[in-house]
Amino acid sequence: MNPSNFQSNELYAKHEKIYPRIAYGFFSRLKILSGLILLGIYYIFPWLQWGERQAVLFDLPARQFHIFGITFWPQDFIYLAFILILAAITLFFFTTLAGRLWCGFACPQTIWTDAFLWMERLVEGDRPKQMKLAQAPMSLRKFRIIVTKQTLWLVFSLFTGFTFVGYFTPIHELTQAVLIFNLSGWETFWMLFYGFAVYSNAGFLREQVCMYMCPYARFQSAMFDKNTMIIAYDEKRGESRGPRKRNVDHKKQGLGDCINCTMCVQVCPTGIDIRDGMQYQCISCSACIDACDKIMDKMDYPKGLISYTTENNLNGIPTKVWRPRIFFYACILIAIFVGIGISISNRSMAEIDVIRDRTSLFKEVGINSIENVYQLRIMNLDDKPHNYDITVDGIEGLKLIKDQDIQVNKGSVITVPVRLLAHSNNLHKRSTKITFHLTVQGDQESVIVEEARFLGPIIRGVK
Ligand code: SF4
Ligand code: SF4
Repeated sequence: MNPSNFQSNELYAKHEKIYPRIAYGFFSRLKILSGLILLGIYYIFPWLQWGERQAVLFDLPARQFHIFGITFWPQDFIYLAFILILAAITLFFFTTLAGRLWCGFACPQTIWTDAFLWMERLVEGDRPKQMKLAQAPMSLRKFRIIVTKQTLWLVFSLFTGFTFVGYFTPIHELTQAVLIFNLSGWETFWMLFYGFAVYSNAGFLREQVCMYMCPYARFQSAMFDKNTMIIAYDEKRGESRGPRKRNVDHKKQGLGDCINCTMCVQVCPTGIDIRDGMQYQCISCSACIDACDKIMDKMDYPKGLISYTTENNLNGIPTKVWRPRIFFYACILIAIFVGIGISISNRSMAEIDVIRDRTSLFKEVGINSIENVYQLRIMNLDDKPHNYDITVDGIEGLKLIKDQDIQVNKGSVITVPVRLLAHSNNLHKRSTKITFHLTVQGDQESVIVEEARFLGPIIRGVK
């Protein structure tokens, strides 16, 4: 067979840029509000002060995370694990209840893409103008518009990267360093890396991140049931679709309420047609609801041809909000939330480690006196310096001798050598359990206990 007879078929379609038309309506306003709140939190938090320190600061060199007056230490990383579990279950809970609410209204990818789209529209205009510009040959005007848009995007991305680093380096110091070109290598790397990630994901890849890179889009259907809120087109009401004149009884013409204006497709940031049914590309942004409701208003038809509804509702079955799965997630959420709250509020503000002196197990001192030496590692996890008292019990007449007062600065650790003396008559074993009690001076309730062993000589008849 002549090879020239083969017809070549492309296996992969070339990606076509999507130019979403701006949508106006209740959900669009809600989305703008949620975007402003979340971006506000991200960009403003590093500038807030809490006492003499930045309110939210992840101080990696000092291994301390400061979050509004609470300092987390490496040993508190268990909370991080619980917070991640809490976030995952919250996501499951809301997905089962309200579908892809996170994707449409709170995901950083969506929020930053909206910010980039807003800048794009500011410079190029809405969808028709953007499409016209893209098809136009290069000219001075087109070049000027592209440069303006790219400059805006780049400045915004760099500021986003700068803000990200500001969570790890005090942002006022970082600003000084930027102004005098004195950034460290890591600060420069992370600023550029994070800025570039935002620039490429929100400026160029956009819906492709949701469609091809985000794992959540793939497994969220496992959390859906017939009572989960989805964005859906009411096929029974909309079909047969087709154009018609206003004020004409379309039902007599055999037409449904969809006038086939394609507005729902034009506003869709992922470029899908919701009338084809539920699709994994749909991020539940609700733009198609607003667009269609506007058309329904113009046509004097009831709103809600595309709506936020459930599969059951579409089939005339009442939606059940409280189902076992929702109840299960809600119980776990409340339990973890309360557990973390109680655990954080009861967190001890100091820690003590007792390390035995390894050079000698014990020493006989004077007549019938046995000495053990320890190093006490005392950590002040509080935000202010403290003086501590230390006592010990477990053996009758046990005496603690230390050569210095225990004074520890905020967020610091000191090592204090102590000697314990016990009368040999009071030692009934070779190894006796003793307990150290660390107390903040003036706060008798702040007792931290740590157990240790006191060693003595072999006493005949005693193990
Ligand atoms: S916006 Fe509404 S009326 Fe227009 S095509 Fe979409 S579903 Fe039909
Ligand atoms: S189909 Fe509608 S809700 Fe889904 S992504 Fe497109 S515009 Fe948003």
